Amino acid sequence: MTAPHKNPPEPHLIGGHLAIDFLNSITADRTEWLGSGADFLVWLEKSGAIDANACAKAREGGVERLDPVATEARHLREQLRALLSDRSVLPQADRLSPLNELLAADESRARLVVGTNAEGAPRFHIERAPALSRPDQLLQPLAWAIADLLCNEDLNLLRRCEGGACSLMFIDRTKSHARRWCSMAVCGNRAKAAAHRARTKG
Ligand SMILES: [Zn+2]
Repeated sequence: MTAPHKNPPEPHLIGGHLAIDFLNSITADRTEWLGSGADFLVWLEKSGAIDANACAKAREGGVERLDPVATEARHLREQLRALLSDRSVLPQADRLSPLNELLAADESRARLVVGTNAEGAPRFHIERAPALSRPDQLLQPLAWAIADLLCNEDLNLLRRCEGGACSLMFIDRTKSHARRWCSMAVCGNRAKAAAHRARTKG
């Protein structure tokens, strides 16, 4: 178990989808946002997976009891990574079992709301509030996000940042499908600076 961060770094929320942000909750340099129940709860709130009320409710009774759920979350994250790593074959049903068990245990309250899509046009979607009568229900928003990713997103647009030491993933939602970096401010500028150095050297 990783000790809780005193001041967890800001999570990388550049994935374009909650399930991809979840994948990015550990990075190549082993920065881990889900190392303990306390850290997991902070990440869930910052990523928008749960709201502040749900976070406060989950905190009642002590965050230490959430440590096993953080462990389960880390397993779920690696199951998702494995599912996405070879998309040339449809996974066998048993590889979906952990996810299906989570979905089957769902006791959330759902309601239909009107929001907007990426172009600003009205769009219906289902909003769910996890029941949180048990700590493991904190995994529900992640299970729904993974199911939504697998069912509704074009996984051909899933990319890994081209920054050399960067492991962050994202869905390329640009019109030209030419997004290369987790963020221009970090890896994009670093690559531009390296290209500039290479040009001025030669
Ligand atoms: Zn990057």
